[in-house]
Amino acid sequence: MSQALTILQNTFGYESFREPQAEVIDTLTDGGDAFLLMSTGGGKSLCYQIPAMIRNGCGIVVSPLIALMQDQVSALRQLGIRASFLNSTLSSDEVFEVEARLRSGELDLLYVAPERLAQARTLSLFKSVSISLFAIDEAHCVSQWGHDFRVDYLSLDRLHTEFPDVPRIALTATADARTRGEIVNSLALQNAKQFVVGFDRPNIQYRISLKSNPRNQLLRFLKSEHRDDAGIVYCLSRKKTEDTAKWLADQGFKAMPYHAGLSAAVRADHQRRFLEEEGVVIVATIAFGMGIDKPDVRFVAHLDLPKTIEAYYQETGRAGRDGSPANAWMVYGLQDVTKLRQMLDSSTGDEQHKRVEQIKLNAMLGFCEIASCRRHALLAYFDEPSSEHCGNCDTCLTPVETWDGTEVSRKALSVIYRTGQRFGVSHLVDVLLGTDTDKVFQFDHHQLPTYGVGGELSAKEWQSVFRQLVARGYANADAERFGGLVLTEKCRPLLKGDESIQLRKDQVVKAAKKLTKTPLPDDIDVGLWEALRSHRRQLAEEQGVPPYVIFHDSTLQAMAELMPTTLDGFSDLPGVGARKLDKYGGGFLVVLTRHAQGV
Ligand code: ADP
Ligand code: ZN
Repeated sequence: MSQALTILQNTFGYESFREPQAEVIDTLTDGGDAFLLMSTGGGKSLCYQIPAMIRNGCGIVVSPLIALMQDQVSALRQLGIRASFLNSTLSSDEVFEVEARLRSGELDLLYVAPERLAQARTLSLFKSVSISLFAIDEAHCVSQWGHDFRVDYLSLDRLHTEFPDVPRIALTATADARTRGEIVNSLALQNAKQFVVGFDRPNIQYRISLKSNPRNQLLRFLKSEHRDDAGIVYCLSRKKTEDTAKWLADQGFKAMPYHAGLSAAVRADHQRRFLEEEGVVIVATIAFGMGIDKPDVRFVAHLDLPKTIEAYYQETGRAGRDGSPANAWMVYGLQDVTKLRQMLDSSTGDEQHKRVEQIKLNAMLGFCEIASCRRHALLAYFDEPSSEHCGNCDTCLTPVETWDGTEVSRKALSVIYRTGQRFGVSHLVDVLLGTDTDKVFQFDHHQLPTYGVGGELSAKEWQSVFRQLVARGYANADAERFGGLVLTEKCRPLLKGDESIQLRKDQVVKAAKKLTKTPLPDDIDVGLWEALRSHRRQLAEEQGVPPYVIFHDSTLQAMAELMPTTLDGFSDLPGVGARKLDKYGGGFLVVLTRHAQGV
């Protein structure tokens, strides 16, 4: 193990391994297979990078994230690691050059797109050289249930048959038990040692509130907490991403849209600016973000509800990979649910698939409406035990008031039933309030015993009751009936009086308390911080790489806090290995010294 630790300290500049990096590295170094499930930002990459450096030959990393390979490889080269990549962005000359370097044993790591591995040419190339290991990144792409399915991943089992002696590792950040099983089966990893590490992302603050003028809600959030930060705003439709990006740009933010309908060139440009410039906000559909390796994303905002808790977890997980505070912020409303249900119903999948999606959507909704700790619920969904009070989510920070909604819920369910389970919320509320609309008279609903019995609540409060009943699965919005509400089995005991129900009091959304404004500790000199950042930016521009490839924010922070005056002191900073010390130590020391002398 000492060799791995030496590489960690000298090459990567980190003091010690995190759980369970050392054991995973050991397993692979000794020639065994591994399956690693670890949350985003947990430190998966080192688990194959280090054994690839220790073992003979080149490590092959299979990744679907072509757009990121260049950055990943640049980051490794900064550390002095001999890395390269093969994908469709290279010219044939460039491909030949990379292959030549592989043949002559000049590579420690080679990133390849999955479709390359399906080519006989690539396989025979790999057979002709020495391979230290195969790392299959984003391994959940083998899952046909998941939204990231890649057909090329299914043929990766051939790595096992063609290279039986080469150790393999599958890595992912999202996998429920079912997907986990699929990964193990499809990749023939039955004998792999399994490492499953917690899902908790303690630096992410989860906040969900009700939609009411969502654009203004978003604007208030960004202006008060993330004026100059990089972040992602997710929307459901392409059009909405474009409209929202334009609107944010008009409000003075560096905002750009990203969705599958934009040309490849525009997408690549926006992604590049997001990675390389500071403070860029990307407004995207889910087409954006898989594996986005940007550590300093300070917020992820959802203007529309994700379809599943898995998707919510994965999308919000793109915030705060550097471990500094970050926000996962969302607004949602019942109209989201209706829209998603309609999308589900008109999708082409088979019935069972639709049912699974329906259940997952219901779980997502339930998650929005809980009155208890969000993190606890999220972790429980992934079968991970945790404290019932995390102290870093909206419900922990501002406890939700609840009230006994048993009586009103009965009225609400009964009006759904008596009107024939085919009307949407606004009409149901009209009936309860005894409003005399044309529709009420057209269907004779003024004759119903439930007509006008709902005077104790306002229309808005009734809407909240219906929303919560849907979220908790007492009623469904039926897509075939244009969002008309239908009762479910679950409402029986409530209607019969055998069960009571506590409802959330809808919060009037106030401006949040000052939360995670900036990762900068109070006692750091802002002038020094800016000087360090500007030096880093200059280095990044010279080399055409994103600033964090030079040093992460956390390394700059440590620099500003500890203010080393010698190279020796500099080498103690986290994230400073031998190579970076050599390349950048002197330059940053000059900045530090100048600052200390007040120049
Ligand atoms: P993942 O692939 O699991 O999302 P990464 O491999 O990108 O995560 O690692 C996330 C961050 O944590 C990176 O900045 C990485 O350099 C850092 N990191 C990984 N292992 C360690 C460690 N043992 N000590 C300190 N930092 C680490
Ligand atoms: Zn909490």
